Amino acid sequence: MATGWTCHELYFWHDTGHYASVFPAGLTVEPGVHAENPQTKRRLRNLIEVSGLLDRLTPIRPRPATEDELARFHTREHIARIKANSADYKGGDENQTPYGHGSYEIACLAAGGTIATVEAVLKGEVANAYALVRPPGHHAIADKGMGFCLFGNVAVAVMHARAVHGVGRVATVDWDVHHGNGTQAAFYGERDVLTISLHQDLLFPPDSGHRSERGEGAGLGANLNVPLPAGSGVGAYVAAFERVVLPALRKFRPELIVVPSGFDASGADPLGRMMMTSDGYRQLTRMLMDAADELCGGRLVLSHEGGYSETHVPYCGLAVMETLTGHRTGIADPWQDPMMAWAGHELLPHQEAAIQAAAELLAEIP
Ligand code: ZN
Repeated sequence: MATGWTCHELYFWHDTGHYASVFPAGLTVEPGVHAENPQTKRRLRNLIEVSGLLDRLTPIRPRPATEDELARFHTREHIARIKANSADYKGGDENQTPYGHGSYEIACLAAGGTIATVEAVLKGEVANAYALVRPPGHHAIADKGMGFCLFGNVAVAVMHARAVHGVGRVATVDWDVHHGNGTQAAFYGERDVLTISLHQDLLFPPDSGHRSERGEGAGLGANLNVPLPAGSGVGAYVAAFERVVLPALRKFRPELIVVPSGFDASGADPLGRMMMTSDGYRQLTRMLMDAADELCGGRLVLSHEGGYSETHVPYCGLAVMETLTGHRTGIADPWQDPMMAWAGHELLPHQEAAIQAAAELLAEIP
């Protein structure tokens, strides 16, 4: 069955202004481009077309999320503030998350695009799907944006699936290099949504993503953080999936799996310090597809988050899309061989210790 693909030119028009990477420019910091600029995602979209894979994908039409849909997660004050600032030509800046004129409408289209993608999978129109949306969403919390995110795209889409489509149990598997704090916060007291985040230990947000954050109240045990040491490569990621993520999914038995999909664990990423390769993402995707086949009729949705290497993100995304469709385009990732020649891709003892510590939390999953 077909693989869905959600994208829109407006996603690339969300304007993050003239930062210098993640730093506001000034008299001592020369203005440049913000780390979260359109290029990595645009080049991913372009490679999907040039590879010929676009012709094999089923386009899903994004639509804006409504204010009521956003308000399942976000406060009305937060929505109104982003809307008002975005209507102003100066735009706004939410905790070093700059946005421009019209970014509100584009952020609504990102959240709504993720909703539409989840709906296409739930209705059986496609087997699985990828939403190449922007701005990203997994850091946004109920009353503020942060980490380049304005609205929680995946959180809003999961809440929509449960409220409107009667979906019961949902699991999210966040492989972005940063902690998925917003998705965690959205479901922290919720027993029927298992939120899993693999991330570089203590990268961003500060002091966030500890293993000890396990959910609260009825949701205790249904939040699982797998912080990995900086420098982790394909061996650590595959082991974390085999020993923690897949057993967690089998125990939880979700009806739908949603992946906040960042490619900033790439070995070429300027903001992360991990060593994932495009073939590594291929392996993780295959494992999630097998788990989805076993547990929930193959229902797997990915929604784009971070990833800041202009030259590597497109190939990581292509590897994921090739795996979802089951079609190899024959296009080689120029980073693959040089990156695999780096030492340290095998599972190292200190990485194994971190994975083992996370595996000890499996018993608490409801
Ligand atoms: Zn990230």
